[in-house]
Amino acid sequence: MEYFFQEFSGYHGTLIKPYYWLYHNQYCLKCPYHIRTGEESRVTYGEFYEAFGFPYGPTMPENKQLIFYEVKAFSGEVLQKGQVTNCVSSNIHAESMLFEEHGYVDSFLYHHESIGYITLYTNYTPCNEYAHCCTSKMHDFLIKHPQIRLDIYFSQLYHVNEDNFSSVWNREALKSLAGFWPRVTLNPISNGIWQTILYNFVKEAPATSLYQPVLPIRASTDSYNAHMIHVITGIKPYFVDVPPEPKPKIISRRQDIPMGMMNYSSIPQAQHGNYQYLPFLTPRMPFMPIPAPEFHAQKDFESKPKHVVRHLKMPTDINEGMDLGNVLPNARKINEVVITEKVVREKEREKKGNRKKKKRDRS
Ligand SMILES: [Zn+2]
Ligand SMILES: [Zn+2]
Repeated sequence: MEYFFQEFSGYHGTLIKPYYWLYHNQYCLKCPYHIRTGEESRVTYGEFYEAFGFPYGPTMPENKQLIFYEVKAFSGEVLQKGQVTNCVSSNIHAESMLFEEHGYVDSFLYHHESIGYITLYTNYTPCNEYAHCCTSKMHDFLIKHPQIRLDIYFSQLYHVNEDNFSSVWNREALKSLAGFWPRVTLNPISNGIWQTILYNFVKEAPATSLYQPVLPIRASTDSYNAHMIHVITGIKPYFVDVPPEPKPKIISRRQDIPMGMMNYSSIPQAQHGNYQYLPFLTPRMPFMPIPAPEFHAQKDFESKPKHVVRHLKMPTDINEGMDLGNVLPNARKINEVVITEKVVREKEREKKGNRKKKKRDRS
């Protein structure tokens, strides 16, 4: 088999010339290594923002394609992660390089029979424009490798608006690609998937971007993308909407719970907008660290000690038959005093009565 690509060792992965005839040049910053694997696939947070429009919404960069990919075994284990970029100087799209017959990935699959899944995280949906024919190459790749499942997550739709002369081709191509469903899925990047990409493919992503909810402007674009891909392909995508910021109603909810049924260990610890990270832990997703619980719930405990007091108060029926002296040390003494007073008064009354009686007897 004749291959077009060449592999070179990088510091933290492999650098691949997708076509042996590519060389360094002043017009393409990424040339000639348009495929990079392992840790070489990471980009800076600034580059990620420029390409994907995260976290502040769409950027629609002209002439910049960035695709991250994961190749997984049938078991779900990630065998390789990588990055693919378009070549500006030679005008070659990223998908065209990635799914090239006899290209790098084609060869990788040829040598690894255990591969079952390919996941793409791309800044643009694939096109089928003249001179690129990206989706046609993907179509041929899927026919050639019938065991492969392909999941595509995108941040922006590429040339599908009616004012673009290529939109008809691109829409038809996306519909055709989606026709492979359920082997192929086309989904907007949404919610926790953003954090998955940051965690796996971005260098030194700010902690705030890893743990805070997706900004509303980005979330509304993701929602729009979900609507549009559904309209174009007729297939509902995988999409997790960002829930609206919940109001802090933890206290009132706890008050609804009968105190006898209260179990503090079962109270959800992260009710302030973090639970949307949970979809990360689906089998197809790599593990993500669960955000540390916020301190709101703990503060609620501290600022409302009455709950603790009420929790400790025993139900009335339990008190019956108990030795109150063990629970309320003064209870017995009070009772004794009352009883003593009663006895004393009765005795005094008896004495007075006896005296009067004696007086009457004397008189
Ligand atoms: Zn290039
Ligand atoms: Zn293309």
